[in-house]
Amino acid sequence: MQLFCLSLFSRLIYTLPCNTHQLVLGVHAIFGTHSTADIHLVLDLFVCNQEAQSLSEGIKIMNNPADALSQLKDGNQRFLNARGRILNTSTPQVRQDLADGQNPFAVILGCSDSRVPPEIIFDQGLGALFVVRVAGNLADRTQIGSIEFAIQEFGCPLVVVLGHSKCGAIKVAFSQLKNPVDLSPSVSFILESIRPTVEKLQSFSSGINAEGAIADAVRYNIQFSVEQLLVNSSILTAKCETGELKIVGAEYLLESGAVQFIED
Ligand SMILES: [Zn+2]
Repeated sequence: MQLFCLSLFSRLIYTLPCNTHQLVLGVHAIFGTHSTADIHLVLDLFVCNQEAQSLSEGIKIMNNPADALSQLKDGNQRFLNARGRILNTSTPQVRQDLADGQNPFAVILGCSDSRVPPEIIFDQGLGALFVVRVAGNLADRTQIGSIEFAIQEFGCPLVVVLGHSKCGAIKVAFSQLKNPVDLSPSVSFILESIRPTVEKLQSFSSGINAEGAIADAVRYNIQFSVEQLLVNSSILTAKCETGELKIVGAEYLLESGAVQFIED
């Protein structure tokens, strides 16, 4: 019963002009609780409700690459601390508002791996991220076209090429180089795109199963995709030169859940 009351209290109070300190005092006064867990529960719900309110007023338009990057880093930290908010912000009002348009603040070119969903690991709700996913986070023509569309249509200031540890596409590409087997033309097409990465690293790797070689290839492949975006898109290059856009690589670590950005 107290849980229900605390939840209701936090939902009612978010519209009032109070800060978190005043909120804690209110919890003490009304519920007589000094439990740290109770206080955290109310604070979390309070923040979630504020976030939902702000989302329902429209996704904040972000023009600055640094602010967009900071937003993703903060979201990954919430994910790491198991304090994600995205489910709480997917309210009917937010869905209704977003039906009329979107203003995503970042584009993510990520791997299709089921363990690396960008919205969850960056804790970003509906309408926040424009996501392009393909095995091995490759920057081929359809991916570049999708990204150019997002940059031109929505003015996103940030593109993140998101690879991840122990990427299956990289492992298979290594394996194909050493012991080729018959694969479908479409799968082969993907692996051919990764081939430059694994060929470059094979010469100094100790074998196809060497974890170090895979890890090196994952990072090299991320960087390779960043370069491909710049080499094959005059639109993206021009935006980067004016400072309107930043393209960064990042690696998601499956074991820890942390995203490591590869910045200059
Ligand atoms: Zn992968």
